[in-house]
Amino acid sequence: MARVVMFSCSIRVPDMLSRRLLTRQALRTLWTGRESLEDDDPELMAIIKREKKRQVHGLELIASENFASRSVQEALGSCLTNKYSEGYPGARYYGGNIFIDEVERLCQKRALETFRLDPNLWGVNVQPYSGSPANFEAFTGLLNPHNRIMGLDLPDGGHLTHGFMTDTKRISATSVFFESMPYRINPKTGYIDYDKLRETARLFRPKLIIAGTTAYSRLLNYKAYREICDEVKAYMLADMAHISGLVAAGVIPSPFDYADVVTSTTHKTLRGPRSGMIFFRKGKKGVDKKGNDIMYDLEKKINNAVFPALQGGPHQHQIGALAVALKQAQSPDFKEYQLQVIKNAKAMAKVLMDKGYDVVSGGTDNHLILVDLKSKGTDGARSERILELCEISVNKNTCAGDKSPMTPGGLRIGAPAMTSRGMKEKEFEMIAEFLDRGVQVGINAKKYSKTLKEFREAVVSNEDIKAQIDQVRADVESFASQFPMPGLDDR
Ligand SMILES: *Cc1c(COP(=O)(O)O)cnc(C)c1O
Repeated sequence: MARVVMFSCSIRVPDMLSRRLLTRQALRTLWTGRESLEDDDPELMAIIKREKKRQVHGLELIASENFASRSVQEALGSCLTNKYSEGYPGARYYGGNIFIDEVERLCQKRALETFRLDPNLWGVNVQPYSGSPANFEAFTGLLNPHNRIMGLDLPDGGHLTHGFMTDTKRISATSVFFESMPYRINPKTGYIDYDKLRETARLFRPKLIIAGTTAYSRLLNYKAYREICDEVKAYMLADMAHISGLVAAGVIPSPFDYADVVTSTTHKTLRGPRSGMIFFRKGKKGVDKKGNDIMYDLEKKINNAVFPALQGGPHQHQIGALAVALKQAQSPDFKEYQLQVIKNAKAMAKVLMDKGYDVVSGGTDNHLILVDLKSKGTDGARSERILELCEISVNKNTCAGDKSPMTPGGLRIGAPAMTSRGMKEKEFEMIAEFLDRGVQVGINAKKYSKTLKEFREAVVSNEDIKAQIDQVRADVESFASQFPMPGLDDR
C-alpha cells in the first residue's frame, strides 16, 4: 500500500472548516512517482503476474516470439523513456541529448558490428518503432506513391507489409499506397518458385522486390533475387525479421551479401526488445560510362523517411535495450544458442514426420517448421485452440492450397523461445510428443462438433474432452516449469 501521511496531532487548526479540509488532504495519499508497480497499480500488476505464470508454465512455440533477457528489460524500463530526441545523433531538435546521442551511436555501431558490416559501405537507422513501420519507412524512402512492389504472398509465407491484398480488398497499407504483385511458393515442393518470380518480374517490372518471409522453413536464395532485381532494375530489399538472430550468429547465409536495403525486427530470433532497424548501402555503387564514380544515395532517403516523414521522437529506451541485445548477439554463447535453435527445430520436425505429420517442404533449415494438418483430418484453427488449452502456444497458418485464412490447414511452430529456456533436442522430441497428444485431442473433439463454433464450445463444455485436455496440460506444465526463464523474476 502507498503511504498515508497524517499531520493531525502537531498542527493547530483555527476553525472547523479548515480542520476538515486539512484532515481530508492529510489523509490523501501523497504520490511521489517512486512507488513500486505493485503498490501503485495492483490491478495491472496482478495481470502481469498471471501473464508471467502463463509464460513460465507453458510451451511457447510461436516462431516469432522469444524471451528478452533481464538486462534488455532493465534498459527498456529505464529513464531513457523520458527523453525527446527528434533528429539524429549530433543533430537533434531538442537540447539535453548528450547521453542519448551516446546511446544511439552505440546502438548503431553495435548493429553494424553484429552483422559484420564495414561502416564505410553500410549505414543503419535504429529508430523504427517496430518491423512494420521499418518496412513502410524503407518503401517510403525508396519509392514514389503507386510504384510497383513484389513480395512473397502472405498465404505462402510472406508478411502483411510485403504488399498483402486479397481478391477483393487491399489489406496492408503497403498495397494501398504501392501497387503490389505477389510471388508464390511451388505448392508441390514448398520452396519459393524463383522461375515464376523472374517471369512475373519481367512482366510487372517492379521498382522493388522483397526477399523476406514470416512462415517459411527454408533458406532464401539471395543470389537469385539479386539477379532478378538487376534484370528489371529493381531495388532488392531483404526483410530478415524472423531470421536476424541466425544471420547475426552466422549460422545461415546473410542477405547483406546481395541486398541494397535490409530491414529487421529485433525481438524475434535476435532476442532484443520489440523494435526495428533499417540497414542501407552507402559509398561507391559503381562507375558510369565516362569513368566517374556512382555513389549510393540511400542514406538520406531512408533517414528522412523514418524522421521526419513517418516518425517523431525515437524510443530511446528501445534503442538502449537494442544496444544491449546487440552486444549479447556478438558473444560465442549467442552463436551456440542459434545453432541449438536449428538443431531443435530439426529434431522436432523429425519426430512429427515419424508420426506421420506432413511437414511442409519435408523439414527445415531454420528456426521453424510448418505442419500441414489436412492429411490428419483436422486444421490449424482447431489445433491452435486445443493446444492453447493445453498451455502450448502455436499459431494457425495457411498452407499452399488453403482457401480460408480463418480455418487454414496448418500450424507454424518455432524453436527460439524454448531454446532460450535451455531446451535441447531431447526436450524438443518431447515437445513433439506433447504437440501430437494435443492435436489428437482436437481430432477426438471433432466428433462432438461440426462447425468451428461448435468445436470451440465442445472443448470447454464436454467433460470427456476437458479431461483429455487436463491430462496433457498437467504434463506440459510440470515439464515446462522445470526450465529457467530469462528476464526479470517478478515481472
Ligand atoms: C514480424 C515481421 C514483421 C513485422 O514486425 P512487427 O514488429 O510485428 O511490426 C515484418 N516483416 C517480417 C518478415 C516479419 O516476420
